[in-house]
Amino acid sequence: MDDIIQGISNFRGRVFPGQQQMYQRLVRDGQQPQALIIACADSRVSPEHITQSGPGDLFVCRNAGNIVPPFSQQNGGVSSAIEYAVVALGVRDIVICGHSDCGAMKGLMNPEALSSMPNVAAWLRHSHAASQIVCEAYPEGMSPKDRHHALALENVVVQLNNLRTHPSVAAALAKGELRLHGWFFEIESGQVLAYCGERGRFVAIDDAELVPVAQTSAARVAAPTFAGSHAVAAE
Ligand SMILES: [Zn+2]
Repeated sequence: MDDIIQGISNFRGRVFPGQQQMYQRLVRDGQQPQALIIACADSRVSPEHITQSGPGDLFVCRNAGNIVPPFSQQNGGVSSAIEYAVVALGVRDIVICGHSDCGAMKGLMNPEALSSMPNVAAWLRHSHAASQIVCEAYPEGMSPKDRHHALALENVVVQLNNLRTHPSVAAALAKGELRLHGWFFEIESGQVLAYCGERGRFVAIDDAELVPVAQTSAARVAAPTFAGSHAVAAE
């Protein structure tokens, strides 16, 4: 803990004076983060560090397993963060970011290890669809390492699906005002993979290429609309 306290002292004494104007501007103008990032609470996975972002750039929500519980009547911290980011802050991009060597995914693979952690076990139920996908849709006989990797990637896709059940997200998607991204950070290589919704797979984010998107922003309404409405005009 001493290092952390020392860090505050360094920040106050050496860093903040050079950034004071920026912080004051962020208070004066309010925050306008570019994206909401939902990442794992793992200490090695810092969204700000990976994206080299600064204060005011990212609205961040972190929890064990980068999980988004599907929308329900029950109030929750993740649901509130999503609603606030979309409705109040008007973010146009939401990223769900998983990572390699994820302890939550290991717990999902070894439920007996969670016997003394009933809350974690209950929380990870939101990832059971990913387990079932890996069990049934992937080849048998995969090594535990490969299974873990597949599980962590499929978990990102499952959480993207859960994200779409939130009314604020569903409405912003229908209006074509929101894009969804699924990322995966490989701690050991520093590589970030992005889920390409079109191809249905993760690909490495390459400097030369446009970053693949899980769901692009395109207005969509299922029902016929009256002439002159937004959706008809967009057809
Ligand atoms: Zn994790």
